[in-house]
Amino acid sequence: MVQRLKYKVGDVITLKKGHPCGENKWEIMRTGAEIKLRCMGCDKQIWLSRVDFNKRIRKIEHNGKFISIVHYEPDVETEETTE
Ligand SMILES: [Zn+2]
Repeated sequence: MVQRLKYKVGDVITLKKGHPCGENKWEIMRTGAEIKLRCMGCDKQIWLSRVDFNKRIRKIEHNGKFISIVHYEPDVETEETTE
């Protein structure tokens, strides 16, 4: 079964709560059952479960600006790849 994801590696997103370093921009490093994020302020990498990620994500950068995730539809749907 192929699951459709709104997000792809390289997307920049914001979460409900920023990182303690003061930044709230995260780059998606890996997608799958768990999502790997890199803090763009301090380079710390964290893993979130898909469920947690979907609960915490707020905005996604699209064409240079951050838009609310509820309004975001990707131009092209990406297929999840598993390793
Ligand atoms: Zn940070």
